[in-house]
Amino acid sequence: MFYEHAIELLDRRGVTIEAIADIVYDLQLKFHPQLTRRECVESVDTVLKKREVQHAIITGVALDELAEQKKLPYPLQQMLESDEPLYGIDEIVALSITNVYGTIGLTSFGYLDKNKNGIISQLNSNKGMVHAFLDDLVSGIAAAASARIAHEYPDFSRYEINGEKDSL
Ligand code: MG
Repeated sequence: MFYEHAIELLDRRGVTIEAIADIVYDLQLKFHPQLTRRECVESVDTVLKKREVQHAIITGVALDELAEQKKLPYPLQQMLESDEPLYGIDEIVALSITNVYGTIGLTSFGYLDKNKNGIISQLNSNKGMVHAFLDDLVSGIAAAASARIAHEYPDFSRYEINGEKDSL
């Protein structure tokens, strides 16, 4: 299991579990007002224990770092350095993270990819560093952790029987 290694890689690239948990908290609080930051940290941590997630982090961070060291072959080097908009493999790698938690994760990933919440926007404005994969990895992890919380707190208040709320 590469759990510790994956956390170390994220840390080395300037991303903490807490920073990802903050994104999850902001995404989910409006749906679950009783949600705590602690639960968000735990959800991110659980996501990081999945093998698929560890593999995505290992792959993405390696490519970002090799691009910073200018060690990738043409034309991949140029594509990652310029974060070429038509290159979509960074998103595909990150989708292997959200896929673990179904369709809700996919929706949140699309939202984060567009809105660039929290640390995601900081990664995008970091000059001299390559974060082509990292921004999508962080979005993917945050989306997956959000999906977990959504699954844990099903909204039973939607189900009314004869005008009365079901007390499940
Ligand atoms: Mg990207």
